[in-house]
Amino acid sequence: MNVSPRDHSPAPPQVLLAHHLRQLKLPTFLREYDKVAVEAAREGLDHPRYLLRLAELELIDRERRMVERRIRAAHFPAVKSFDTFDFSAIASLNKPLVLELARCEYIVARDNIIALGNSGTGKTHACLAFGLAACQRGFSVSFVTAAGLVHQLMEARDERRLLKLQSQLAAVKLLIIDELGYVPLSQTGAELLFEVFSQRHERGSTIVNSNLPFEEWTTIFGGQRLTGALLDRLTHHVHILELNGESYRLKQSAARRKRSARPSDEIDAADPQTGEINPAN
Ligand code: ADP
Ligand code: MG
Repeated sequence: MNVSPRDHSPAPPQVLLAHHLRQLKLPTFLREYDKVAVEAAREGLDHPRYLLRLAELELIDRERRMVERRIRAAHFPAVKSFDTFDFSAIASLNKPLVLELARCEYIVARDNIIALGNSGTGKTHACLAFGLAACQRGFSVSFVTAAGLVHQLMEARDERRLLKLQSQLAAVKLLIIDELGYVPLSQTGAELLFEVFSQRHERGSTIVNSNLPFEEWTTIFGGQRLTGALLDRLTHHVHILELNGESYRLKQSAARRKRSARPSDEIDAADPQTGEINPAN
């Protein structure tokens, strides 16, 4: 075979390095090593410090990527945190308990949380924030509505993959079930949901949100027996949050209406000499 000398020339080391770093799954190392080398030369860093800086960047990025992956896997309808939660708007909510729970130790202890309260009081917002905190601390999370979960379970049963779905649901560290009680469940639906609680009992944490007080849960599960057994499991190690009050949404839209009624007041408040609007009131 006639091989020209050029074919013998080795590939530039960067090409092999890029290949190896990809195979080792070190994308930040690959992306940053040139730039960090320039910085290292400028700052007079020796090679262990240069490598240390790259390794630290890779670790920070890896952690961020993992949090993002957990957030995607959780299927949150929106990403919300306690940073945007106004505790002063809901006096019935035990703020110190919420902040303590946001540290996620209840997940290590496999405790549950039940949030009860009327519509619009921030139950979904709070459990999204618990879910986000759990993702940030390295726990796997799944977010579902009670109706959505029952639908998934029934569908899995019809397609003969119920066991697989049940074991997935049992394995997740934090399962958030929103809106229990809005839709009455069929007998089969209630039983399938009960099995989920039963299989997760003392294996993982579950958060349940409901607009109905416990006394009315028999209407969701269609009977005393199932409701009793379910509450028995769910409330074994539980933190109960009460969110009773005025709907935050209604309050906000009332405030908006009031604000949009203001321009005419402001025109009245304009300085007759300069025409400037005085925003004092
Ligand atoms: P619920 O699930 O109890 O019906 P949501 O959590 O869906 O209520 O709240 C309705 C809307 O009001 C959401 O957009 C939510 O982010 C917002 N909201 C509710 N309570 C608060 C609060 N205390 N601070 C900030 N936003 C809130
Ligand atoms: Mg809700």
